[in-house]
Amino acid sequence: MKTANNNHIIVNYHYIEDPSPEWGGIHPCPTAEFEKQIKYLAENYKIVSVDEVYFAAKKKKNGHFAAISFDDGLKDQYANALPILEKYGATAIFFPITSTFDGNVPGTHKLHILLSKFSAQLLIDRFNKEEIGFAPIPTDKRMTNERQLYSDIPTVNLKETLLSIPPHVKDSFLDKTFKALGLDEKKIAKELFMSEEEIKSLKAKGFAIGSHTHGHYSLSSLDEKSIKEEIRTSKKILGELLGEFPTAFTYPHGIRNEKMTLYLENEGFKIGFSIEARPVMATDDPFFIPRLDTNDLMLNEPFKNDTIKHAQ
Ligand SMILES: [Zn+2]
Repeated sequence: MKTANNNHIIVNYHYIEDPSPEWGGIHPCPTAEFEKQIKYLAENYKIVSVDEVYFAAKKKKNGHFAAISFDDGLKDQYANALPILEKYGATAIFFPITSTFDGNVPGTHKLHILLSKFSAQLLIDRFNKEEIGFAPIPTDKRMTNERQLYSDIPTVNLKETLLSIPPHVKDSFLDKTFKALGLDEKKIAKELFMSEEEIKSLKAKGFAIGSHTHGHYSLSSLDEKSIKEEIRTSKKILGELLGEFPTAFTYPHGIRNEKMTLYLENEGFKIGFSIEARPVMATDDPFFIPRLDTNDLMLNEPFKNDTIKHAQ
């Protein structure tokens, strides 16, 4: 029940599609559930831009403001979510990963693809056999209670390990595995991610576009120079594509380095978003604004403010 007289939220989405039985480790929002959520938001909130939600919270405005965001620039957001957003007249912001425009599949998504086709255990066995010098990945105990609350233990631990090892080791493990298992990166990138033309058309339809970096690396794993490059390259590509530089930013995996605000401000960004699952509050840092995940809003039973799962 929405007991407070103000309640301002941002809901974040990734895959919008009906899950296939093999789609292990990934929790797409089914298209029908997405429509239910947008309808719910449209009926119970004023759907506005992310900036407006932040200012509504900051000024403790009365009412219920909601914004909708999409990370990763996935093709199914264009194919499945866009028609529903248009049907309900809901605005939204999209955060594509600019390296995907050139046929790159970021490590995160290589892992998603691998998990959709092979078991987490098979991938863990490959890792434990090949990446000598790194601690073997355990499968009996969760390595984190902060992220991936909806995944099983092998999947969580595989993802956590890949987040914690040096990016070049992760890239090389995923590249080797991708090739060894016969997957075609360029072809998959085309199928999985929106093209530059689709991003441009979103902008032309009045949707906002922000930056989610160039290569989607966990920013805590990179040195200062590489972090700045990740921000700058993405900003430049989106600026050239859209005729204006992005001012909103989302951190890959919700992870930031303590100097991030400075780097982002230096590149002209005004606002940044985390994946901490709670409503926006007046005291929130404009460069680390929380967002609910679609899974926090599942509407099998009516959404209640007090049932929001907080990230621990
Ligand atoms: Zn992402």
